[in-house]
Amino acid sequence: MTFRRHAGMARSRASFRGSAGHAEAFQALVQNSSDVITVCDAGGRIRFQTPSVTRVFGYTEGVLVGTDLSLLVHPDDLRPVQKALLRAAAEPDATDRLECRVRHADGSWRYTETAVSARLDDPLVDGFILNTRDVTERKLLEEELAHQAFHDSLTGLANRALFRDRIEHALHRQRRQRRPLAVLLFDLDAFKNVNDSLGHGFGDRLLAAVADRVRGLLRPADTASRLGGDEFAVLLEDLVGPADATYVADRVLRAMRAPFVVDGKEVVTNASLGIAIADGETVVTADDILRNADVAMYTAKGRGRGRAELFKPSMHRAMLDRIDLEGDLRRAVARQEFVLHYQPTVALATGRISGMEALVRWNSPERGLVPPVMFIGVAEDTGLIGPLGEWVLEEACRQTVQWKHQFGQDAPETISVNVSARQLQDDGLVAAFARILAETGANPGNVILEITETAVMSDAEAMAARLHELKTLGVRLAIDDFGTGYSSMSYLCSFPIDILKIDRSFVSGVPNEPQKVGIVRTIVELGHILHLETVAEGIELDEELEQLRALDCDLGQGFRFARPLAAADVETLLVDQAAARRRGELTVFAPAAS
Ligand code: C2E
Ligand code: CA
Ligand code: CA
Repeated sequence: MTFRRHAGMARSRASFRGSAGHAEAFQALVQNSSDVITVCDAGGRIRFQTPSVTRVFGYTEGVLVGTDLSLLVHPDDLRPVQKALLRAAAEPDATDRLECRVRHADGSWRYTETAVSARLDDPLVDGFILNTRDVTERKLLEEELAHQAFHDSLTGLANRALFRDRIEHALHRQRRQRRPLAVLLFDLDAFKNVNDSLGHGFGDRLLAAVADRVRGLLRPADTASRLGGDEFAVLLEDLVGPADATYVADRVLRAMRAPFVVDGKEVVTNASLGIAIADGETVVTADDILRNADVAMYTAKGRGRGRAELFKPSMHRAMLDRIDLEGDLRRAVARQEFVLHYQPTVALATGRISGMEALVRWNSPERGLVPPVMFIGVAEDTGLIGPLGEWVLEEACRQTVQWKHQFGQDAPETISVNVSARQLQDDGLVAAFARILAETGANPGNVILEITETAVMSDAEAMAARLHELKTLGVRLAIDDFGTGYSSMSYLCSFPIDILKIDRSFVSGVPNEPQKVGIVRTIVELGHILHLETVAEGIELDEELEQLRALDCDLGQGFRFARPLAAADVETLLVDQAAARRRGELTVFAPAAS
């Protein structure tokens, strides 16, 4: 390479070394510099280097003289070096700075910062002076810092900033290539529990293991990120169609379901995942697609966790509604905006009221009287079921004690309260219930806690322990909605339960459907063998009542007798019941037309 300011320029051909005196002064000046000063001719051939070249680049002093500069420069940096020399030649008074990699004598590349100035008119130099400083350490530190700034230190995955950046670039490329891209967003369903019970160190190692598993699933072009906490995201590019994204989502979910071994301990987790796709048709930003994935993930959680949902615009509205509902419910729990309604259970043989089941309603100033299906799920997800459930038990106990005072032998004997799975997971539950029973003075033997079959069977071993603990309070336990879950007989025998409540779906239409008759008969017989009381839920019709009586079911509940009633209506019913008893009748309820 040749660098000339312009052709035909008058120039002395005196060699650098030839000009004694000046050269010595110059050498003295640069002898102790930590920089390497290189003088090369207009053609880029090295003519002189300071002795510091040995210390900095490992070459014996002088061996590089005569070598072409370009042989020392990293091939990728040659163009910037050439440009800098050209610029310097054009502007002799200016000094140009550039970064380039220079080969060390040991073969490694060192990062340098080099100042270039041209002295083509100076007969003493007749070329370029390069002042080179090794900045490798600083450069590596910068790279390290940049990596840290864009990666999550725990998992080594991209952090949120880098992930957003990758999405922006992908969206940009998509505008040309028109291939759909997808963001998958997921978090672990029980991570908080793991962290709380096994410690943060353990939680961190679990997250690192999750990251490794995710990395293992992806193609090199995909980006995985930890956005924070237990929230992970994956960017998939160049998809053929949305089905590709759901396919990867399923693989991620399956990978998360397989047990992790951390510190020699096996942990089972589950993830909820949201998918958002940009198909190139509507213009979106990284934030749009991340928000959509978030909404879809939120929906996946609401629909039962452990699953993936593909974003749909309607999810937005649903999520906002749900957030409103959560906020309102939180306030409602603080203000105790709830009331209990009571539905009688009736002895099928006599028609006498045997007990009441407390069913909660939310008496909302804005929403009116809200049925439990609308808010129990949200209360469970938010943990509000804890305080709400305690309020329900306390109010039900208080009420049953009051009725006992008021109606004596005509008062309902038992009071049933529903307890959800989430409440049973709470270690403080039994102590709280003990306190409530003691404070209200309710007779524990007449308090029935109803737990759905699905809740009991979800984690049968842990539940068995908790149910035994509850039994120490002296209460009775009922399995609710029996027949809808998958009870294992061995568990059923080992649980300390007292009552089976046959789900409404087997009761409704029972005389006309032989299969249901068979199921109900089996459950009633099972109950008798295990010494459990049986209750048929949802009896609406005389025929159903007759059939259940014929099948020897002990108790019944349903609109055929009474709907859930406000406390005042229960009192009217109890007054009638007392009057009926005084007349020598067993029941207030009309006999079935047989
Ligand atoms: P569940 O415990 O199975 O309660 C029975 C539900 O069936 C009640 O609905 C009741 O009104 C309804 N029902 C009773 N008889 C009949 C009938 O003959 N026909 C029909 N079609 N329905 C009948 P509700 O009050 O809306 O409660 C729904 C569910 O909400 C309850 O189901 C229970 O799982 C839950 N729940 C209610 N209160 C509480 C509570 O305090 N805590 C918890 N954790 N859950 C509660
Ligand atoms: Ca119930
Ligand atoms: Ca039920």
